[in-house]
Amino acid sequence: MTIKYAYPKAIVFDLDYTLWPCWCDTHIRPPLKAISSSEIIDRSGMRLSFYPHVESIIQELVENNVKIIGASRTATPEVAKKILSLLKINNRAAITYFDTLQWGAGSKIKHIKLAAKQLGMTEELKNGNFILYDDELRNRDVESINCLFVHVPDESVGLTKQVFQDGLERWSKFSQ
Ligand SMILES: [Mg+2]
Repeated sequence: MTIKYAYPKAIVFDLDYTLWPCWCDTHIRPPLKAISSSEIIDRSGMRLSFYPHVESIIQELVENNVKIIGASRTATPEVAKKILSLLKINNRAAITYFDTLQWGAGSKIKHIKLAAKQLGMTEELKNGNFILYDDELRNRDVESINCLFVHVPDESVGLTKQVFQDGLERWSKFSQ
């Protein structure tokens, strides 16, 4: 039996160690090139893909009309954007699935407020309709603006279906 989950209006994803297993500003040596639709390689020969469940999670969100937001504190947004442009989800560049991408150092409160503003979703944010999935516990300060924080605890597997669904379940209680 398939469990039917309720979804928030928007889901925010951290990138490094949430969607892929590296820090793109320290581990990647540009230029990058695709060696398949799901794998890229850098100048030093390091290969990178999304964590295994990421593609199906993104597709599930698209099918359920959930806005998809990226929020990263990386020092090299251009490298992150290149990764998202080269990796494909269902034959389309992954970057095209993101409704907005927010960058910069400092608290993700700023990233998320700006994303909500750009998408005309300030009220939805206030009403608890956002979740952030992130591997860094310091980013849980976003709960002060009513965005549920869900920790991605294991960098060897990143964002798994289990972590994703546990987050949705917590959100259905959080948002009541
Ligand atoms: Mg991270």
